[in-house]
Amino acid sequence: MELIILGSGGASPTPKPFCQCLACKKARKLGEPYKRNSSSLFIKDINAVVDCGEDIADSLNRRDIKTIDNLFITHWHPDHTFGLRAVLQANFNFLKNKNVHPINIYIPKKSYEILMEKFAAIDYFINVQKAGTLHLVDDGDNFQLGDINISVVGYGGKGSDTCAYLIEHKSKKALYSPCDTISFARYKDFSNLDLLITECGAFSHIPDEISFKDMISRLREIKPKKTIITHIEEIELNAWGEKHFNDIKKQYADLKFDYTYDGMKIKL
Ligand SMILES: [Zn+2]
Ligand SMILES: [Zn+2]
Repeated sequence: MELIILGSGGASPTPKPFCQCLACKKARKLGEPYKRNSSSLFIKDINAVVDCGEDIADSLNRRDIKTIDNLFITHWHPDHTFGLRAVLQANFNFLKNKNVHPINIYIPKKSYEILMEKFAAIDYFINVQKAGTLHLVDDGDNFQLGDINISVVGYGGKGSDTCAYLIEHKSKKALYSPCDTISFARYKDFSNLDLLITECGAFSHIPDEISFKDMISRLREIKPKKTIITHIEEIELNAWGEKHFNDIKKQYADLKFDYTYDGMKIKL
């Protein structure tokens, strides 16, 4: 299978509007790999995207993706869902008042309930314009799409509002857990991964976020064959600088992790 990182950034993209920090200036001037859209993943074999922040249209255009059939959502937060309108309405023909290609949307049931409170307009795109076919999912559900099997991994088991997705192709297993992993109580169940794509964790002390050190401890426990860390926050690049990111990679060289960048391709 082929996975492509559509976005490697965090809740705020890099460059962030108005910001004149070194990271933002560099991203504005040079683009990729310094420009980072909100975290999103493309599973090429099945035309599937995982998560769609506000900048998903730009992420899809930059990779010249011609269609998607499936959209998996990890949780309701804006940097993972507020691009739903852009994705769904891209297939809506306003001249004919008709949707031309409904997309399957998979979202944890509890997350959808919260999304309806926070971003109720989505209901119109799905239920009136019929631009998406909704699949409310829960921990343990799995979907066979072509050669790929996707399982829902609720961070806290059944009824979780946040999930990771386990992507399996033949004997290969990849887990995508891009955000909010501080509540990922079940991470120890995944000690046989060929690939883990997981959030970077915070170098700064940010309440309610996993720390970089705790993320590293989890890697030491579950020992994925390959690890790529994502959801790299502008505010952390701003506070710590690019050199710190490179230095810390050397400090933990035994773990051989890589940082994601927009457009990164991974074959498994
Ligand atoms: Zn900045
Ligand atoms: Zn996020």
